[in-house]
Amino acid sequence: MAELDRRDLLTGLGGLGLAVAAGACSAAEPARPGRKIGYAIVGLGYYATRIIMPQFANCRSSRLTALVSGDMAKARTFAAQYDVPERSLYTYDTFDRIRDNPDVDVVYVILPNSMHAEYTIRSAQAGKHVVTEKPMSVSVSEAEAMVAACRKAGRKLAVGYRSHFQPHNILAMKLSRDGSIGTRRYVHAEHGFVQGDPTKWRLKKALAGGGSLMDMGVYSVQAMRYLTGEEPAAITARSSTDRKDPRFAEVEDMISWTFEFPSGVIGHGMSSYSSNHNHVRLTGDKGRIDLEPATPYEGQALRIARGGKEERLDPPPGPAVNQFVGQLDHMAECILNDRPPLISGEMGLQDMRIVDAIYRSAAGGGTIRL
Ligand code: NAD
Repeated sequence: MAELDRRDLLTGLGGLGLAVAAGACSAAEPARPGRKIGYAIVGLGYYATRIIMPQFANCRSSRLTALVSGDMAKARTFAAQYDVPERSLYTYDTFDRIRDNPDVDVVYVILPNSMHAEYTIRSAQAGKHVVTEKPMSVSVSEAEAMVAACRKAGRKLAVGYRSHFQPHNILAMKLSRDGSIGTRRYVHAEHGFVQGDPTKWRLKKALAGGGSLMDMGVYSVQAMRYLTGEEPAAITARSSTDRKDPRFAEVEDMISWTFEFPSGVIGHGMSSYSSNHNHVRLTGDKGRIDLEPATPYEGQALRIARGGKEERLDPPPGPAVNQFVGQLDHMAECILNDRPPLISGEMGLQDMRIVDAIYRSAAGGGTIRL
């Protein structure tokens, strides 16, 4: 089992061409002691209540200060659990009053995809910074409007791509950049799971914006971008969906795409709602990196093959307790230190341009050049 220096890993992140805009806050940004940034969570569904909210207890710079829900009984139950005062509970109708709440610095939008744009824009107009869940929106024009609204309000916008704070993924980015597998030649990313209940919002076009691509496929798109450090110049896509299956009456099941990158790297990505996948592979002329599983909530594994040997690499712990804490505290520390977030609205907007090109190509548009 190979060992890596923790400092290498942290400074490695600082060199990530794709994610680090000039002056962007790094994942290892020092906190300013004494103040924690207040988060309002909008939408009290599975990801908000089961995954994100319990993590505030582990944060050094973030705290949960407000809740927004269509169900006040549910909001009060969680408010009691997390010590959120009644004055900091909002419905979707009273949400805009959040502007008067000095305990809220940032709004974290964890609603169905088609609601991300509205709540991001309303949050910015209320003078709050915003984190929105992935996918950033359901269209390029919405994503542009979100970036514009936050820019106009002078507020920061980040997208909830937690993998950028996950040690195995951070290490894979570093190994890609530092020549450990030679010159990059090929990237492959696949994500999927088997959808069950056809009534879920994820299978409704109006709420989800699309099918597997909008849900898990954006992880494949992201991994292909952050492992190569490049943007696709040309995209060709195909989809395969049984429209007689009640789950897929409105959205796609499986979709795959080819990216041509400017350096000559070729990428194949896919997502599926009828088979299980969670694998990313980057191949160079001297070796190969595999992340499998690549992007679950926990349990990532990284292998590197080079010089005729394959070994598992266990990265040192990241700067945060886990990827969720890393993401929450990173945004808080960007606000405290007035730095742009690593996973910016512009990065989410670029994903939406890519997603749009994948859909256009799969619909018969041939190869789309970006
Ligand atoms: P969920 O169905 O569990 O929760 C959605 C919440 O939105 C519920 O509280 C629901 O009451 C509320 N809501 C408000 N209006 C609604 C409407 N018209 N229809 C349906 N629900 C409505 O979903 P989730 O799994 O928590 O996903 C929420 C968002 O978080 C999605 O954008 C999803 O892509 C994202 N997500 C991200 C990750 C990640 O790892 N980054 C993981 C899961 C989900």
